[in-house]
Amino acid sequence: MTAQTSPARSVDPIQPSVVPDAARAHVADLGALVAASPSSYHAAEEVARRAEAAGFTRLAEDAAWAVAPGGRHVVVRDGSVIAFALPDAAGPTTAFTIVGAHTDSTGFKLKPKPTTHGAGGWWQAGVEVYGGPLLNSWLDRELELAGRIVTHDGTEHLVRTGPMLRIPQLAIHLDRGVNDNGLTLDKQRHTQPVWGLGDAESADVLAALAADAGVDPATIGGYDVVLADTQPARAFGAGQALFASARLDNLLSTHAGLTALLRASSPGSTNGAGSIQVFAGFDHEEIGSASRSGAAGPFLEEVLTRISAALGATADERARVFARSLHVSSDVGHAVHPNYAERHDPANHPVAGGGPILKINANQRYATDAHGAATWSVACATAGVPTQEFVSNNALPCGSTIGPISATRLGIRTVDVGVPILSMHSARELTAVVDPWYLARAMESVFAR
Ligand code: ZN
Repeated sequence: MTAQTSPARSVDPIQPSVVPDAARAHVADLGALVAASPSSYHAAEEVARRAEAAGFTRLAEDAAWAVAPGGRHVVVRDGSVIAFALPDAAGPTTAFTIVGAHTDSTGFKLKPKPTTHGAGGWWQAGVEVYGGPLLNSWLDRELELAGRIVTHDGTEHLVRTGPMLRIPQLAIHLDRGVNDNGLTLDKQRHTQPVWGLGDAESADVLAALAADAGVDPATIGGYDVVLADTQPARAFGAGQALFASARLDNLLSTHAGLTALLRASSPGSTNGAGSIQVFAGFDHEEIGSASRSGAAGPFLEEVLTRISAALGATADERARVFARSLHVSSDVGHAVHPNYAERHDPANHPVAGGGPILKINANQRYATDAHGAATWSVACATAGVPTQEFVSNNALPCGSTIGPISATRLGIRTVDVGVPILSMHSARELTAVVDPWYLARAMESVFAR
């Protein structure tokens, strides 16, 4: 019952007409992070870049780490990133306060032999579906290729082409029943983008990636490259209170968690004296998190263990630290859709602009328990942030996130939270301007515990 009696419910959401300048600035900065992060590899690098600009130093996983009280560091593993700040008084029994999110988004990934040719002289690119995107939302958009290539000498290059491709929808004259029968897209035949015209011999998708990296296409040994929408994020609607962007799932939480960490750990901040503050952004959430850099892998555990070892913790002390640590796992959730309100639980209707949501599921699709719910409600109340609950309609399967996966692996108490959005897994999702800002403030309050 803890979640239903949250003291934070006394905080009323603000009206759209009085959206604070700070909230507008927050989502403008979110839009900048999204623009810099067309792939999980770019997102991890952008998080590290921002942390380094704030005074964090980068650690390499294959080097010895000089970690000591007062230190602030960031480490990247493929498309995942962990940044952490140690208080000056950190010792072998100092607990961790972790904010977790994911860096990947649903969409499409470039296949081997990526250059294909279609009827009519079209140059096309071979792509496979990544996760569970709303396929129709990817039609008729200017898309780019983005990710990493690795050359034969082992060097990794982040690459992005800028607007280059498009998955064109069939004209209504050739699909007369589409508005009555619904649009059905074959995941293979109907999703292959076009990107040029001409004779087949001249087409080479990889050459465009090589050109961006400044390398000879013949030296490309491997690549992890996705399609990304290129339309910039923007505020719109009455009072400019709505915000549309690609990849809100889950760069919204990645940005909020990083922003909260940088604020809470900034020199002179009185926050966070009591615990080691950690932001963790994981790749591969949209495909189940089972990878060497995903939340089901060892990345976070290894970083926490290395920090504890640097502080001289024994195995017994590390177990005590984990027992007192907290993980706030954040991902987007579903705001009530006005055209489909019946898809929600009848009593729990998260509204856009109503503040972050606490996610609850009896079957542990979300890791929230009574203690976690109580901690979150206090954090929101302390920050002056309204909060709401999300629980699924029993007739519809519940989504999941990194929370239960990480909790299962580490045994650290975990609470699942997020921001209510519309159009989840669309190429362009929708949030209220105030909610990402509310979320970051609540996270900052968590870091101050
Ligand atoms: Zn997500």
